Amino acid sequence: MKIGDAAAELGVAAHVLRHWEDEGVVVPGRTASGHRDYSAEHLSRCRIVLSCQSVGMSLAEIRAVLHRGESGRGPLIDARIEGIRRQRAALDSAERFLLHVRGCRHDLITRCPECSIHAE
Ligand SMILES: [Zn+2]
Repeated sequence: MKIGDAAAELGVAAHVLRHWEDEGVVVPGRTASGHRDYSAEHLSRCRIVLSCQSVGMSLAEIRAVLHRGESGRGPLIDARIEGIRRQRAALDSAERFLLHVRGCRHDLITRCPECSIHAE
């Protein structure tokens, strides 16, 4: 599949795919005439890239995820998992606060013991 067709299929601009290639994230094959050729496998890898980007991962991190031989891969993935867990904890805490504060009857939230927990 040509780069334009792959880009359309993925909903990204062609220059995004060229950038991923430059960064060694998804490197397509080449046709006999030298044009980029994206297989179903390349498209799957591109969808993984988009999914990882949607949770804030950098291209360097994504390259490490996609390439088993990449040095420092394990620690990099572990650090990202740790970051996701911290984000989840922060989101859970914010949700608990908002659920409480929606019905909180204190005129100043700093005077509410339960609200104050969230200022710590
Ligand atoms: Zn409160």
